Amino acid sequence: MSNSDFGLIGLAVMGQNLVLNVESRGFQVSVYNRTTSAMEEFIAKHPDKKLVGEATLEGFVQSLASPRKIMIMVKAGGPVDAVIESLIPLLDKGDIIIDGGNSLYTDTERRDKWLGDLGFRFIGAGVSGGEEGARKGPSIMPGGPTSTWDVMKPIFESISAKVDGEPCVTHIGTGGAGHYVKMIHNGIEYGDMQLICEAYSIFKKAGFTPAELAKVFTDWNNGDLESYLIQITAKIFEQNDPETGAALVDKILDTAGQKGTGRWTLINAVENAIVISTINAAVEARILSSMKEKRVAASEFLKGPDVEISLEKAELVKKVHDALFASKIISYAQGLDLIATMGEEKNWGLDLGKIAAIWRGGCIIRARFLNDITDAYRKDPKLSNLMLAPFFTNLLNEFQQNWREVVSIASLAGIPVPAFSASLGYYDSYRSAVLPANLLQAQRDFFGAHTYERTDKPRGEFFHTDWPEVI
Ligand code: NAP
Repeated sequence: MSNSDFGLIGLAVMGQNLVLNVESRGFQVSVYNRTTSAMEEFIAKHPDKKLVGEATLEGFVQSLASPRKIMIMVKAGGPVDAVIESLIPLLDKGDIIIDGGNSLYTDTERRDKWLGDLGFRFIGAGVSGGEEGARKGPSIMPGGPTSTWDVMKPIFESISAKVDGEPCVTHIGTGGAGHYVKMIHNGIEYGDMQLICEAYSIFKKAGFTPAELAKVFTDWNNGDLESYLIQITAKIFEQNDPETGAALVDKILDTAGQKGTGRWTLINAVENAIVISTINAAVEARILSSMKEKRVAASEFLKGPDVEISLEKAELVKKVHDALFASKIISYAQGLDLIATMGEEKNWGLDLGKIAAIWRGGCIIRARFLNDITDAYRKDPKLSNLMLAPFFTNLLNEFQQNWREVVSIASLAGIPVPAFSASLGYYDSYRSAVLPANLLQAQRDFFGAHTYERTDKPRGEFFHTDWPEVI
């Protein structure tokens, strides 16, 4: 019987939860997994749901109503191509394939062309929110032709998270736009997480107990920093290790992993000559964290200061709040700058206000201040940098003094705060009418005759000096 509304291939964590989400909205869903036992176990676990489990791809395809809507939720990279290749001979023209994994946007562009040329319809959709988001309502970032989005819209809107009644999904743009925006979203997520870790690191050095840390983050979550990541951080500090009774966080090894979207974001930023120093610092902090043995060895030899943080705790909390919030604004300003630049280059017609709006629910970076970002772009869709939206300019002006003090306190105490300081460096560079690049140009002209422009002559006129010889 060809009557399932939706099909999903890839029954790992994300796939299973998405299927349950789609089914819960009244759709019949067919499922397939390369390893059949995973499909059988999943179906057996949910006997009361409108699910059709198929052991063969042929049976799976035949079980779907026309035009077929098939979501692939497998490991990114080669597995996505392998699944598409095996689907192609079984599909009819006009059928829709959706890749919901974390695919690299250039792969999505290639697949979009490949499948489009064969007469199929393709959507590359970023799905955020992890396991819980997939089950209860993720933030979805679909890219592809508008006509295909129109077909998928009812399903996507019904399964996505909702904020103020608005679904956390919008058609991002054509081709690889959806996966591109998801990639930068993940980069921003790296930044948010690292900034929180740096705040924690300062508090830890200042002697805060896990209970005090939990209180700080709970209080912050009740204020302007309200966000999913701040909320779960408070919960993490409350969690005790059942084995030792100590705070679990203190038992967790300080080496972080990464899967690749952060690295892809950095490569893309360099290719577009856009500064994303906060995200860069966050990716590099993970790399440094993974060098545990080298760090332990170096800690024996390389000296740091022997300084206590003497500030009264409540005062420190306020200052770190300001440093964290200001750095977070910078991180989003940089990420959105990159998105806007690529959007223009690719002619995606991106709406940054809508993008910020669909991040307000369902995803890991959901936060109260995304409302303010949405407002900023709704008021001025051509905003050149988030820092220059009046709301954010005022906040940065208010926070900048405490932000500097926190970076100084950390530096004097030998606490690494690469994302706080990279953010502050960006802020100070961006607001500098004059930078020391005059000297840099002189150096370039000295050794490579690269020429320079002059402060007292029109832009576009280039000069060269015959510099003295150096032996
Ligand atoms: P995953 O661990 O990335 O992938 C496992 C799934 O891929 C299994 O169903 C596996 O089938 C299938 N698979 C692997 N190689 C295959 C191949 N060559 N042919 C056919 N199927 C193949 O699963 P996941 O964590 O649920 O993530 C799915 C996608 O969502 C990924 O792109 C991931 O990056 C993205 N994502 C994940 C999260 C998260 O929190 N986990 C959040 C957002 C996005 P078998 O059972 O046969 O091995």
